[in-house]
This record gives sequence, structure tokens and C-alpha cells, in this order.
Amino acid sequence: MDKTHDEARQGEAFAPAASFVKKYDKHFYIESYGCAMNFADSEVVASILQADGFGATTDENNADLILINTCSIREKAEERVRKRLTEFRQIKRSNPGLIIGVLGCMAERLKSAFLEEEKLVDLVVGPDAYRSLPSLIEEANGGQKGVNVLLSRDETYADISPIRLNSNGINAFVSIMRGCNNMCSFCVVPFTRGRERSRSAMSIVQECEALFNDGYREVTLLGQNVDSYHWINEETNEAVTFAQLMEKVALISPLLRIRFSTSHPKDITDDVLFTMKKYENICNYIHLPVQSGSSRVLQMMNRTYSREWYVSKVDRIREIIPDCGLSTDMIAGFCTETEEDHQESLSLMEYCKYDLAYLYFYSERPGTLAARRFEDDVPLDVKKRRLQELVDLYRDHSLISMQKDVGKTFKVLVEGFSKKSDNELHGRADNNKVVVFPKENFKKGDYVMVKITSCTAGTLLGKAIIELDIK
Ligand code: SAM
Ligand code: SF4
Repeated sequence: MDKTHDEARQGEAFAPAASFVKKYDKHFYIESYGCAMNFADSEVVASILQADGFGATTDENNADLILINTCSIREKAEERVRKRLTEFRQIKRSNPGLIIGVLGCMAERLKSAFLEEEKLVDLVVGPDAYRSLPSLIEEANGGQKGVNVLLSRDETYADISPIRLNSNGINAFVSIMRGCNNMCSFCVVPFTRGRERSRSAMSIVQECEALFNDGYREVTLLGQNVDSYHWINEETNEAVTFAQLMEKVALISPLLRIRFSTSHPKDITDDVLFTMKKYENICNYIHLPVQSGSSRVLQMMNRTYSREWYVSKVDRIREIIPDCGLSTDMIAGFCTETEEDHQESLSLMEYCKYDLAYLYFYSERPGTLAARRFEDDVPLDVKKRRLQELVDLYRDHSLISMQKDVGKTFKVLVEGFSKKSDNELHGRADNNKVVVFPKENFKKGDYVMVKITSCTAGTLLGKAIIELDIK
């Protein structure tokens, strides 16, 4: 599935595409954690390193440079990275010339711990400083510690053409903005990734066009808050909103599908919804994180909307795009959350009946507004029990949502073979659900009309009924 934070991809190592395999004297190994934006950043880093003469390797024992692109959204992510760094340190024992570096969201907060106290790494580079990697690597080679964790107000890496990681050649992530100006009290992102800035619309459209010409058939436009995308062309003074940007990308070709993530409920506009409705190639699927069903808790989270506002947004989405897929993020056990607040989260979930939900228990992050202002006072066992109740309810809903699609016909973009058999293909419907069907004469990149005959909890199963004449 098109996940913003995909558990299956955590710790994934960079695999060079066939066209990328060329002779290099030095090699880098990069492992990525966290959300899709971090994975997209690793593709920018790969491009910068390749220009600096590094080839990629998936074997850490064969690398001259090992990088971990980190996430600090929850405490567990940090523990995982520390463990990996200790393992890489072992490799350095037998290869003293090896350089180990930490990139991404953990860089700023943990730079002195990693570099000086624990002496785990040689390089620490924050999300806005990747252009300085070549010079920092040189410094590290000379025995100095390379550090740059400065955040920028304007860096968008707009001119860097990312090298696609572990790509299936069909789906690609395209960053349209960086940072975040919202101050959700639980969230560390505004501190680790800095102020919000939008990337030039022209460079986004060019990147999507190039992807389409290379055979890609789906782009996911990425930002922490895509609906607040706002870019001004200084030459023409034209301002481009997210709805207008989506339209520009949709017009590249009807064969290029568009998805986007993440939408903040306070910012998603009717314009965006009507643009989705107007273009068949903009997928009818919205990730609309709610975080809590209690207006009191939402206020403490500084989400700037109430339960009622959120419900009215969901109603509006369903009024304009009746078959729109809907997913969410929710946090169980935020500071002061009572049993009544938790019941409100469950009842909101009951109302929205999400197709997909990413559910977490609250993990206090140092430096956030919540860490400074509120006590993390819900006991861990209570947080976990509430999380489980949310998970159980969500599972019921997602199964019902899958069952409702049995008998319907969807236009599926084929992404590859199914996990189980080379006689079956898998792809996704417009509403983001995974569809598996017999291969016949179809192949990756085809659009196929598939009639759904049955389902499991996570997959729709069906049979091709018409081969579309659009390839
Ligand atoms: N920008 C997106 C938004 O506003 O919806 C989300 C970004 S964040 C990378 C992804 C999700 O992680 C959030 O929606 C939230 O549910 C979860 N999250 C963030 N901080 C958290 C924390 N301190 N504890 C638990 N979950 C957290
Ligand atoms: Fe974090 Fe809120 Fe920004 Fe999302 S919108 S990245 S949750 S501060």
C-alpha cells in the first residue's frame, strides 16, 4: 500500500537500478527509516553521492561510506538506529577507513551524543544540508568530524534529480515541499525539518514529466501538509496552490496517476476536492490524519480543528467524491486522555469507517510543546490497551470496506507480480486497495479493468474483464 510510514520498508537498503550499475572506485550503503519523505530524501542523497563518484552497494561490508537516514517521530525509531550504528561500528574495526554517518531527523538532537559521547559516527548531516555531504566526507576522511545540521528557509533540492531507490519503475515519490509550520504539540517534525517551504512548481512538473517518459505511471506528491503548498513564480508573479499544482501534473498525461500525502484537515479545500473530481487520473484517496476524536484532546494537541470540523470535512469529501478512499493517523494515550476521550476516538472511527489507519500510542518527544507543557500521564499499559481497541475496530472496518468492493470493477495499475505467484499480478485500484488477479497477457505498467470476486483482509482478488487500450 501507499503508506506514508511503511513498516515493511523500515531499514530498507538502497538497491541500485540496473542502469545505475557502473564501475565506481568507492561505494556507499544507505539505510532509510521513517516516512516516505525520508525515503525520498535518500534518493536525493544518492544523486549527490553519485555525482561525487560513489557507486551504490547493498552490502554494508563492501562500503566505504555507510549512511543511516533517520527518523525521530517515536522513541522506538531512535533505539533501532542506535543498534544499527553499533553494528556498523564493528565493521569499522576491520575497515578503519570506513566512514559512518547519520542523516535526517535525528541529526540535530543527537549530534553530540553520536559524535562525541558515544563516538558512533564520523558524520552528522541534517535534512537541509545534504549538498554539503561531499565536503563533509572529505573532512571526515581527513580525520575531522563532519557536522552540518543547519536548517534552511529555502532549500528544496529543486534542481537535484533524485536517483530512484529500489524502484519497481512504476511508482515514484516526488517531494513538493519541505518542513512544517504547524506546531502540533506532540510532534518533533517542525524542530527536525524546519520551516515549511514549497518547491518550484516548474521543477515538480519537470520531474513528473521525466518520470512519465521513463515509464513511470504513478507519482505521489509528498509534503507534511500538501494542502498548504504555495509557490510564487517570481518572473510572472503567478501563485500556484496545491489544487493548481495537481492540475498541472494531471495534465502531463491521462496515463499518469497522481496521489498525494499528507492532507491536514484544516487546510484541504473544496478546490482540491473539485480538482480531484475533475481529473480521472487523480486518485480518489485521501490520507486525512485526525489524531484524536476528542475536541478537548485535539485542542491540547494544537491541531486547530474540533471533532465537529473534522466530521464536516469527511462529509464534504464524501459529498463531492462519494467513492473516495479515506485513511487516517490516530494517537492513543496522549497527555490527560481520559476513558471518555478514548471512547470519542472510537466513535469517530465508527463514524468515518476508514479504509486504512496508522495507529500509534503516544511517545513523548524531547523539545516538543507537549513535552514542555504537559505530563505524559497515561500509563503505558493503558496506552497499549487503548491502541489495541482502536486497532481492533479499524480491522473490522477495513474488512467491511474490502467486502463492499466484491462485485465491483476497478481500473488497476499493474505494479508487478503478486507475492505468492508469477502467474498472478498485483496492482492498485484508484482507492489505493491492492488488487491481485491472474496474469494472462498483462504486464507491469498496464491499466486493466478487474472485476473483484473475493477478498482477504488486505487484498481484493479478481479477474481481468477488459484490457484497456491505454498503454
Ligand atoms: N504531517 C502529518 C500530519 O499532520 O498528519 C503527519 C506527520 S508524522 C510523520 C506521522 C504520524 O506520526 C502523525 O500523524 C502522528 O499520528 C504520528 N506521531 C507524530 N508524533 C508522534 C508522537 N510523539 N507519538 C506518537 N505518534 C506520533
Ligand atoms: Fe507534525 Fe503536525 Fe506538522 Fe504533521 S502537521 S508534521 S503532525 S507538526
